[in-house]
Amino acid sequence: MGINRTDQASNSAKLFGRAQAVLPGGVNSPVRAFKAVGGSPRFMRAGAGCRLTDEDGNEYIDFCMSWGPLILGHAQPEVVRAVQTAAEGGMTFGTATKVEVELAEMVCRWVGPVERVRFVSSGTEAVMSAVRVARGFTRRSKIIKFDGCYHGHADHLLVNAGSGLATFGTPSSAGVPQDFSRHTIVLALDDEFAVEQAFARCGEDIAGVLIEPVPANNGLLLQRPEYLRFLREISSQFGALLIFDEVISGFRVAPGGAAELYGIRPDLMTFGKVIGGGMPAGAFGGRAEIMNLLAPLGPVYQAGTLSGNPVAMAAGLATLRVLEQTDAYRVLESRSASFERLLRERFDFAAHGVNVVRCGSIFWLSLGSASMLRRADRIAAQGIECYTALFNKLINRGIYLAPSGYEVGFISLAHTEEDLADAAETVGGSLGEVFAEGMA
Ligand code: PMP
Repeated sequence: MGINRTDQASNSAKLFGRAQAVLPGGVNSPVRAFKAVGGSPRFMRAGAGCRLTDEDGNEYIDFCMSWGPLILGHAQPEVVRAVQTAAEGGMTFGTATKVEVELAEMVCRWVGPVERVRFVSSGTEAVMSAVRVARGFTRRSKIIKFDGCYHGHADHLLVNAGSGLATFGTPSSAGVPQDFSRHTIVLALDDEFAVEQAFARCGEDIAGVLIEPVPANNGLLLQRPEYLRFLREISSQFGALLIFDEVISGFRVAPGGAAELYGIRPDLMTFGKVIGGGMPAGAFGGRAEIMNLLAPLGPVYQAGTLSGNPVAMAAGLATLRVLEQTDAYRVLESRSASFERLLRERFDFAAHGVNVVRCGSIFWLSLGSASMLRRADRIAAQGIECYTALFNKLINRGIYLAPSGYEVGFISLAHTEEDLADAAETVGGSLGEVFAEGMA
């Protein structure tokens, strides 16, 4: 299949040296530094389809896919053309544009619960703003979030107090005053009783229940549909808003995201990644009566110099148009299912007491447990060590996984059956080695 590999990383290592002199840790986002897996991060110079090429000329089949945006693959021609055309017409105007209206119309058409949408520049901003409008609408302060769900790096959401009943959050980052997380209640996933207790204790203060309906930032902790329906019901019962953070699952697991997949109507939804087609964009949306509280219509302030940037909107629109025209979700499901099947044929997960978890084109190698994990505190450290060993074998065999065992993998429309069969063979064989060496 022509993977070109020199097994050298000297240019990457040199660049990492230079980077560390000017960027904290040599990176602009922490996981990129390979701290979890050891070694020097590979510096990528190009991506095409499902392949990446690094600064030493090594090629990889990519399963990180920029952490989710690239559902069509790297440098998809129609997306590239849309970006070029948009950029030639001006990078940003700071005014209203046609392309943002077109993308908004598409989002509202695809995603049932979204009647109004506002574009921002990242997933972090989307969630931060959705929480603000939820608080403005309900005139309440507290937000329930779940241990293991990541919602970006806004101060009050960088909280992980572990599981426990109505635990009031303690910040999990330095630089966040305790006071800022006073209104964040952190609960364990998959536990109806904990949610009932929190509402019983301070239901009149709870503005919203914020959840990744497909939790994919701490392994892939697929939730029971009845649990998600329970969250819908209890939120309505107490007048709190249900907020689905679909930054990963939006436009990925179905055209209407996890809300469509599970048939649940949240009050607000947040998006990022796929919606920007590889450019920096995010969005939040929901019922008109809630969203219309935003400035300029209402009292909830939210703004952005580059919000709805025309180049980013063009990339997002081109991506959604390709998805619409290509039977994409059926193809993604069938290719991802055959990747999973081939992987299971090549490596006996059950015999090794481990698992591969999948939701459409999102997968997670759960190397510490065979059971279906639904809570973050059940992820075994030993499984993460196995992943690290696997990662280091695969990076020298032309397969690029996300550099942390807590991260999921993404399959794109650019991964052909042949690419996936080759990858399953290599990943399965390497897994066999990891476990054989582990037992020796
Ligand atoms: N929410 C979820 C569910 C995410 O996965 C992420 C990013 N991984 C974010 C929010 C934050 O998005 P961004 O990195 O674009 O700020």
